[in-house]
Amino acid sequence: MKKIAILGSTGSIGTQTLEIVRENPDLRVEGLAAGSNTALMEKQIREFLPKTAVMWEEEAARDLRSRIGDLPVRVLCGMDGLLELAAEDGYEVLVTAIVGMIGIRPTIAAIESGKTIALANKETLVTAGHLIMPLAARHGVSILPVDSEHSAVFQSMNGERREQVSRIWLTASGGPFRGKTRQELASMTAADALKHPNWSMGRKITVDSATLVNKALEVMEARWLFDVGLDRIEVLVHPQSIIHSMVEYVDGAVIAQLGMPDMKLPIQYALFYPDRRPMAGKRADFFELGRLTFERPDRETFRGLELGMRAAEAGGSMPTVFNAANERSVALFLEGRIGFLQIAELIEACMGHHKNRENPDVDQILQAEAETYAYVEEMLARMG
Ligand code: NDP
Repeated sequence: MKKIAILGSTGSIGTQTLEIVRENPDLRVEGLAAGSNTALMEKQIREFLPKTAVMWEEEAARDLRSRIGDLPVRVLCGMDGLLELAAEDGYEVLVTAIVGMIGIRPTIAAIESGKTIALANKETLVTAGHLIMPLAARHGVSILPVDSEHSAVFQSMNGERREQVSRIWLTASGGPFRGKTRQELASMTAADALKHPNWSMGRKITVDSATLVNKALEVMEARWLFDVGLDRIEVLVHPQSIIHSMVEYVDGAVIAQLGMPDMKLPIQYALFYPDRRPMAGKRADFFELGRLTFERPDRETFRGLELGMRAAEAGGSMPTVFNAANERSVALFLEGRIGFLQIAELIEACMGHHKNRENPDVDQILQAEAETYAYVEEMLARMG
């Protein structure tokens, strides 16, 4: 029996993780955490009977306690609750599927208590990779990627020597706006951005896919996970999303992982690594697919990728500013308060305003996040 806990159990990755638990009776859920969705959390608790549940909001925790008063489940709340669950004994794998930098401290607590991390929350490595990776190495803890591209790279490195990797090819679908001009992008709404051609994901990451910010975040995630220089990570647009990423070796051999776009595969791979389990679902039929195509990303039109690469090259606290400015701008875009192109404009302004700090600790990362949020507010007030 493998015991797990899930941070972000009510979200896109969280609910798909629970589908895998449902299909594999030798997985058991010991802990669940979410933000405010108590109705779904109650259903999940009644089905999976974890020992601990955490709600971010205090009121949501109170509501949950009253809903499940008949069950022996401990209900905690806020950051203290997330940290307690992350450090709790009695399970082996923590799935980090929260959105945003809120994931950093619980991930650190879980590593310090020896848990394997199945990492979906890319913001953790983007902003604190320089702290997380050495910490995991010191504690002998594995960080297993859940992001499909990183899982593909990880699978393509199986049995190979890391020092013989010459390049990582990170594939990108190009998102719903691939091929559009800046003029066309100016009028795109949240509803347009949320129509992803291949992947079904949470709202924030779907918008990040449309701006190509997601790919920049993934480059930063890959740099830490696989310990490769930025100059050896190449972004490649591959609209069919069948090749999930590739690794090129010193002899020119390229090894890739292919399959239908379905997040359940990388999630399940991380949960059972190094085993492969049977999984139902549509298989890649290469006769039907016919051909796979590739393009260079358009970094001029989709400035999210360009700005992200600049943040990655600057390092220090700049990736945090890039990430925080994007997080806030995407929320504003989803609320209809700013246009699509303003997402990149706000990110660029925040990066321009920031005085980069090298090697920031967690407090400095969170401070850079808070300063960025404050600067976005200031700019919004100026824009009227
Ligand atoms: P969703 O928005 O679908 O879900 C987010 C989850 O986090 C929800 O359970 C939400 O709870 C919970 N949550 C939000 N804020 C808090 C908080 N403060 N405390 C506790 N829980 C919180 O996101 P996704 O599942 O799409 O993405 C999760 C992470 O995985 C992101 O970092 C994303 O970049 C990454 N990722 C996602 C992929 C995907 O296919 N979706 C692919 C690869 C990576 P509630 O429902 O109550 O708000």
